[in-house]
Amino acid sequence: MAVGELGLDVSDAVRVLNRVFGYDSFRGAQQEVIDHVTAGGDALVLMPTGGGKSLCYQIPALVREGVGVVISPLIALMQDQVDALRALGVRAGFLNSTQQAYERRQVESAFLTGELDLLYLAPERLRVESTGSLLDRGMISLFAIDEAHCVAQWGHDFRPDYLALSALHERWPTVPRIALTATATKATHAEIASRLNLLDARHFVASFDRPNIQYRIVPKNEPKRQLLELLRTEHAGDAGIVYCLSRVSVEKTAEFLVHNGIEALPYHAGLDAPTRAANQARFLREDGVVMVATIAFGMGIDKPDVRFVAHLDLPKSVEGYYQETGRAGRDGLPSTAWLAYGLADVVQQRKLIDGGEGDDAHRRRLATHLDAMLALCETVECRRGQLLAYFGQQATACGNCDTCLSPPESWDGTIAAQKLLSTVFRLSRERRQKFGAGQVIDILLGKKTPKVTQFGHDCLTVFGIGTELREGEWRGVVRQLLAQRLLAVEGDYGTLVLTDSSSEVLRGQRQVLLRREPERVAPATPKTSKPRRAAPVDLPEVAVPMFEQLRAWRTAVAKEQGVPAYVIFHDATLRQIATECPSTLAELGTVTGVGENKLAKYGQQILDTLTGSAPVTPSTATAIRDTENPDQ
Ligand code: ADP
Ligand code: ZN
Repeated sequence: MAVGELGLDVSDAVRVLNRVFGYDSFRGAQQEVIDHVTAGGDALVLMPTGGGKSLCYQIPALVREGVGVVISPLIALMQDQVDALRALGVRAGFLNSTQQAYERRQVESAFLTGELDLLYLAPERLRVESTGSLLDRGMISLFAIDEAHCVAQWGHDFRPDYLALSALHERWPTVPRIALTATATKATHAEIASRLNLLDARHFVASFDRPNIQYRIVPKNEPKRQLLELLRTEHAGDAGIVYCLSRVSVEKTAEFLVHNGIEALPYHAGLDAPTRAANQARFLREDGVVMVATIAFGMGIDKPDVRFVAHLDLPKSVEGYYQETGRAGRDGLPSTAWLAYGLADVVQQRKLIDGGEGDDAHRRRLATHLDAMLALCETVECRRGQLLAYFGQQATACGNCDTCLSPPESWDGTIAAQKLLSTVFRLSRERRQKFGAGQVIDILLGKKTPKVTQFGHDCLTVFGIGTELREGEWRGVVRQLLAQRLLAVEGDYGTLVLTDSSSEVLRGQRQVLLRREPERVAPATPKTSKPRRAAPVDLPEVAVPMFEQLRAWRTAVAKEQGVPAYVIFHDATLRQIATECPSTLAELGTVTGVGENKLAKYGQQILDTLTGSAPVTPSTATAIRDTENPDQ
């Protein structure tokens, strides 16, 4: 059924919200944005992932006359986006390079005859004049530019096709434009506004806080084991994303997890396109799949129930880290952002920057990004506070990050720093050889390793002067001095060198505060029993069996229709149904996420599932199959 046939008084945004989307009220700035765009104004919307950006253009597109044209770079996800809208009764279609000519023609004619509410377009389609003339012949209600940070040249997701979007305004000056992104340092924000010619638009900047995400950054010991421990103890059976820097580590980590009984799939640019597409589809469609990926994966993935995002390597910037972790918990339920980070990460990243492409200015920019990331890792303050400060926003201690939950002690590390820096200074006078952190620490600990004796380092005055700290603690000192720029690394082997500020410490003119390393966590002994599915968060124990039954019903329906499970209903909706056990369609209709279309389509089946009169079998699933879709 199409929205137009619901008999809606479409001038009322709240009614569209209730009846089509099944939500009670707007969140944050949604209503303001929607009113502004519906009235024909341009807007630039900065809202964190999960903040509810889609409604900001979908509702004005439904309320205004004509078709809303959405520019999105996420070709692989357009089908899902369109499916999700159709499930709500919204008439949506897309045009991109993956389609057959006849499919395109169908969508084009639906656009021209006004039988679409929303049309998704890949940006490269706008380079083709036939697209321009198609748009000329139809009636456009608005342009939505999704993932607008792709227009920012120095941002981390720049796409040249986005530059052409500045022409939209020239060609269709009366059509309102709304640009949306979840990435927004001041610099990116300004660049989007100027490149898209949105300087006169109204800017809506939401709080970037994601209160349901718990941020944790731990020292890296045995990363794969640490990850496994996290998954087993806190996220058994949950969907999540694990980010690794290299293709090799993606493969190895995925294998390791599979070997340990976790449903994990790899994703990186080295896999062929069909494998990537298949793995992405499984991640989206099935429950509880863990995707192990390089950062090539994830933009636009709007799976709402990603319960954790784990980083096994240090992200290159806070902006990237924030985007990647933001993919957790779009549904607002508790989620974890976990990062394991070690000295080797710093050395490796510095090496990548020094040996990478680009001019000095570019390298300096990368180094600044890395420094901000290191500062976040080494902070003794609230992580969330530090993250938000990076985006120019303020926060009080959040109570939901590792530093708030177990505040790290800080200690006066001035003497330790002096010992370490003077060792580095002595080694820097050696002409024959350069030395990394390992050698420096061995010397401090007084270890007569072959390499120490070979170079006569056991005769240095600093030999054995640092036995008060353990090796792991010394590595922590090195890391923190690097983060504070009191020490630097150079060259291919991670040679430690002094910086301009080191001398202040060596001369006793500067105090060095360090964060105490947590006691080394014993590696988890592999459990022999199969991992148990954890009880879903925030669900009363008595409602768990019903929730699982509803999920089984949903899986069958989603499979039948070939769409991701969350397109049918979100977990949060099933959770509310399982808890409240509505007994009539009217009661069911009040549940968040149950709009009119879904109530009509699935309401009775849900009630039957609740009363136990509808066992899930393939035949029930076939019977409830939605074969009629007026938009196809
Ligand atoms: P974004 O694009 O900003 O990352 P989405 O538009 O995907 O966020 O919205 C995130 C989640 O919040 C989705 O599951 C969406 O259905 C839900 N949502 C958005 N607005 C509301 C609202 N007003 N009430 C309830 N749920 C909402
Ligand atoms: Zn905090």
